[in-house]
Amino acid sequence: MEIERILIPSDRLQERVKELAREIDAAIGESRETDLVLVGVLRGAFIFLADLLRALDTPAAVDFIAVSSYGGGTQSSGDIRITQDLTASIRGRDVILVEDIVDSGLTLQALIQHVGVHRPRSLRSCALLSKPDRRVVAIEADWTGFEIPDAFVIGYGLDYAERHRGLPYIAILRAPEASLD
Ligand code: 5GP
Repeated sequence: MEIERILIPSDRLQERVKELAREIDAAIGESRETDLVLVGVLRGAFIFLADLLRALDTPAAVDFIAVSSYGGGTQSSGDIRITQDLTASIRGRDVILVEDIVDSGLTLQALIQHVGVHRPRSLRSCALLSKPDRRVVAIEADWTGFEIPDAFVIGYGLDYAERHRGLPYIAILRAPEASLD
């Protein structure tokens, strides 16, 4: 088994997603002219985005963007590449980037720069998880679900070598060299 322990159980995740949705509704939905687009960062954010969208009262369109990931490992290369771009125009619209986790911060920084070029009316970010101890650039998402310690986590959309995305909770990965299976 590659799981060391459960860090955030499913019911706590669901509760926090609802709280985040209320906060986003309050910040964005009150403006009548809101034209909200949730931009999910593939692939780790797709489950979080699906739950967030359903918890929001504010109507939102959905688009996705994909960035190069860690491959099969657990360390960021620091080399961020957009591998799949937005499909719809976001010019003049209210965009929220939906990220699974902010680790070094390099991905979020690169995405804000990349998406900002398309001239949205507003550009904010919502990350399910954050590892503040690992930050290389001083950046925070506008909304963060949970701050977690420096450990590699899986589940609720997050993978290790494409495994474990379907787990309903966030768990800490057992160090690969210590894995017995
Ligand atoms: P950053 O650019 O902030 O270092 O890394 C962001 C990306 O790295 C995340 O979107 C995610 O894909 C990946 N990542 C960072 N930490 C973890 C982790 O603990 N588990 C998993 N599965 N992916 C992570």
